[in-house]
Amino acid sequence: MINKEVVLTFGAHSDDLEIGMGATIAKYNQQGKYVVGIMFSRGDKSSPWLKEDYLINVRKEEADKIGKFIGCKETLILGLSDGKLQEEIENKKFKGLLRNLIKKYKPTSIYVHSKRDPHPDHRSVNRAVFEALDDVDPKKDINVYVYEVWNVLNETRPRIYVDVTDTFHIKLEAMKKFKSQKLYVYLLMVPVIVRAIFSGFHAGCKLAERFYKIR
Ligand SMILES: [Zn+2]
Repeated sequence: MINKEVVLTFGAHSDDLEIGMGATIAKYNQQGKYVVGIMFSRGDKSSPWLKEDYLINVRKEEADKIGKFIGCKETLILGLSDGKLQEEIENKKFKGLLRNLIKKYKPTSIYVHSKRDPHPDHRSVNRAVFEALDDVDPKKDINVYVYEVWNVLNETRPRIYVDVTDTFHIKLEAMKKFKSQKLYVYLLMVPVIVRAIFSGFHAGCKLAERFYKIR
């Protein structure tokens, strides 16, 4: 039993959480919340020029280390195969596992990809988590938010801004630590900064991350 407020954060790939909400995770950790990072994919098809088993190891190590760095108390990799994510999510055993995770941690809030995310793996994760939630009782006590990774979402739900002025540097540092994904993470750096400034403008602070409250 964890004697703290638990926040479960779900991502399809190992860097989704850092890019989408890394500074918020760091902030929640500083506030004393128990944040758990949960990755669906094991990252085996994430680089066209590295061998699969090397990638799995590197990405697991990275995910653990970087997860800890931004403030996740635990990082779980569910080990699904890239490209077959949707298929493997449909597995009955996997559905049970997800349900049990939520029951075990008893989170007060959950963060997950949006069902309007253009990436099919991200949408699969959204569906899986909401299906699991439907089976968890009493689900009404859990706040559920979605976050953006690559794209601005066309969400109609209430926007929530988290002031991350003091922890944004941790997110940038964390993003730089993804060695296996270096090139593309660097390409993302500029839009991530621009988005934080833009969200900060809306929230009335310097830098912010944006979420949508689904329930
Ligand atoms: Zn992703």
